This record gives sequence, structure tokens and C-alpha cells, in this order.
Amino acid sequence: MSTFQAPKGTYDLTPPRSATFLAVREAISAPLRDSGYGYIETPGFENVELFARGVGESTDIVTKEMYTLTTKGGDQLALRPEGTASVLRAALEANLHKAGNLPVKLWYSGSYYRYERPQAGRYRHFSQVGAEAIGTEDPALDAELIILADQAYRALGLRQFRILLNSLGDKECRPVYREALQTFLRDLDLDEETRRRIEINPLRVLDDKRADVQKQLTDAPKLRDYLCDACKAYHEEVRALITAAGVAFEDDEKLVRGLDYYTRTTFEFVHDGLGSQSAVGGGGRYDGLSEMIGGPELPSVGWALGVDRTVLALEAEGVELDLPAVTSVYAVPLGEEARRVLFGVVTELRRAGIAADFAFGGRGLKGAMKSANRSGARYTLVAGERDLAEGVVQLKDMESGEQTAVPLTEAAAELAKRLG
Ligand code: AMP
Repeated sequence: MSTFQAPKGTYDLTPPRSATFLAVREAISAPLRDSGYGYIETPGFENVELFARGVGESTDIVTKEMYTLTTKGGDQLALRPEGTASVLRAALEANLHKAGNLPVKLWYSGSYYRYERPQAGRYRHFSQVGAEAIGTEDPALDAELIILADQAYRALGLRQFRILLNSLGDKECRPVYREALQTFLRDLDLDEETRRRIEINPLRVLDDKRADVQKQLTDAPKLRDYLCDACKAYHEEVRALITAAGVAFEDDEKLVRGLDYYTRTTFEFVHDGLGSQSAVGGGGRYDGLSEMIGGPELPSVGWALGVDRTVLALEAEGVELDLPAVTSVYAVPLGEEARRVLFGVVTELRRAGIAADFAFGGRGLKGAMKSANRSGARYTLVAGERDLAEGVVQLKDMESGEQTAVPLTEAAAELAKRLG
């Protein structure tokens, strides 16, 4: 094995592809920032207890996929497998919910860790941008989040994604359904592990991908038939609001998602160009989570969109993001004296806010011009001994190929003018 190899299930972001990742994070967070969401950052690890209680002890995420560790001091920690529990923990710790301004709207961006079987689109280290709106029960808030995610994907140029929507009921109606489902499932021909799941988290059984299991589920009781009137009305209002916003969605009563804390509105964004790992993002309402982790009653809703899979979705659709060239001006000095002078001009340009780069390492004209080309710079500044003797630099427009001599003292101002 090469020593230059990232750990299994991980990969590095390197230029130029890394620029797309940055642009995706930016595009997903932009609508949030414009909608009253404030930035929050939490540690990459938390006490293991938070996820055990918050994500749920019966979920794959907690039982199989969490990276846990014991510190030298004896603390039991876990690398965060998702964002919601941490963000809620941090909001409670900072008493943001007591500042009298509900909902507390937060957005975040970061790395998450799950010990999963790696495959295309599924990694052990991945990246999400997420949003949480804490402390308010209002169908418009659920609708807002779905609409903002749709807006973000569209702004990126994605078209082949679909929004799946469901309601999981609340603490009134869900237990009644849960029991009806358990009674139904207990009579089926299922393996031991699935039988255990029936007792801990029966809704997850509906999510089983195996054909022989799905075949037996055809007549399973449907959550839709058990929703209480309040949940039904709430869900209808969410549907009406997103419909009015012109956002298309599909009702998917099988959508249960892998986390224990969801109530009422649940949704997932899937992309049809991604094969089996088709979920690019997901979220929902989690009215009981705060109490599950020891906080007050704080009905909340949120989502997390996967950055890695969003980039894969862009590639699958052949969308090229319109990324501006990183460098506007590239300076090519010929000789020692020119090196000092042009390095000074580059510094001046940068201080004036113009992206500039420099041919380092004393290369010849040919190699340096190649680098200038690769940099994508619109203009090149070239200067040799004779130019300096005349007090000028050669300014080359890389698009037209046109070259003009400009007085050295005016080079920065001239470039600023041309670059607008
Ligand atoms: P989840 O909390 O599982 O619903 O994850 C939300 C989003 O994060 C998913 O829709 C994916 O885009 C992304 N995601 C989750 N797990 C992984 C993973 N192992 N590798 C890459 N992306 C992931």
C-alpha cells in the first residue's frame, strides 16, 4: 500500500475539483443566509450519549456506523455522524431559545463521519450543509426549508432531482400506528434481526430494501390511515404552501428515514442520476428531540444536504458551474531586477483587491507563459531589462492577444480600470 493513500472510504478535495465543492457549499447556504438563518459551528465530536439519545439507540447510525473513542481522560466521545443533535445541544447550551426570538434559525457546514461500507456516493467522511429552525411549530417553517433547498439545487442548475414528502405523525397518533404495525409485522416470516427491529423501531422495517420482505409488506397498515386530525391538517398546510410556491413534490408514504427523532413532516431529495445512493439530502420535523436529550419542549424542523452527492449529481447532469477564474493578473518577470519590481506590482494589485499571481522560481519566458495560461488570468504582465530601462511593463490581454507597453507606475491603475 502506498503511504500516500487516504483512509478507506475517504477522499481528498484537490484543485480544480475542490472549487466545485466550495461553490456547492456556498450555493446551498446562500438562500439560508438570505432567510434569517445564522451560522453555527459545533465540535467535530460530542459525548457519545448525545447521539445515543438524540439519533436513537436502535438506528444503524448509532449501533453500527458511529466512530467512538475513549479519551485518555476516560470520556466517551463520538465523531459526529450527523448535525442536528449537535446543533440543538449547542443552541440549548447557549440558551438561544430563551432570547425571545423563536424560531432560532441556524445553518451549518461541516464534515460528518459514518463507518459505512464505502461505495460510489457513500463515504466514511462526508460533507453536509444543514439548516435547523428550532422552537416553533408552524407549517410555513417546514415549507420554507423545503422551498429553500429546492431554490439551492435549482440555483446550482440541477433539474433531475425529486422531492419525496411524508408525515410521520406525532406523539398522539404515531404510537397507535406503531402498535398496529407491530401486530402486523409479528405474523410475517422474517429473520431474527428484523424481528428485533419490529420491537424497537418497526417503521424502519418498511424501509427494508429486500424483495422478499417488501413482498410481505403489501398489506401493511398505512400511517396515512392513522394520522390524527391535527397531523393531517398540518400536513395539508405544508403541502399547500409548497404547491403555492411552485415546488413539485411526490407523496411517499414509505418514506420513514433512518433516524428516530422525526415527527410529522419528513422529506428527502433524491437525484435520479446517482444509482443506489440517490438521496442528496433529507430532513424533517423533530418535535420530540429536545426533550429526548434533556431539554424543554422545542418543536423544530431541519434538513441536511450532502455536498459530496450534490457534486456527483452536478456531474451526472453534466452541469458545469460558472466558476470565475481564480487569478485575474499573472506576472512574468524576466531577470532579477524585473522579479523585484513585478513582485511589488503583484503585492500592490492584491492590496487593491485584484487577484494576482506570479511566476515563482525564476523560470524562462516559455514556461512562465504556460503557467499564465493555465492560471486563467485575463491579463499578463511581462517585464525584462529593456522594459525596466524604459520604465514600462508589457500588458498582454490573454483573450485578444493584444500587447501594450504601460508605464510601470500606472500598471496597477490601468489593470484596475480594465478589470472594472
Ligand atoms: P441523512 O442524515 O442520512 O439523511 O443524510 C443527509 C444527506 O447526507 C444524505 O442525503 C446524503 O447526501 C449525505 N450523506 C449521508 N451519509 C453519507 C455518506 N456516507 N456518504 C456521503 N454522503 C452521505
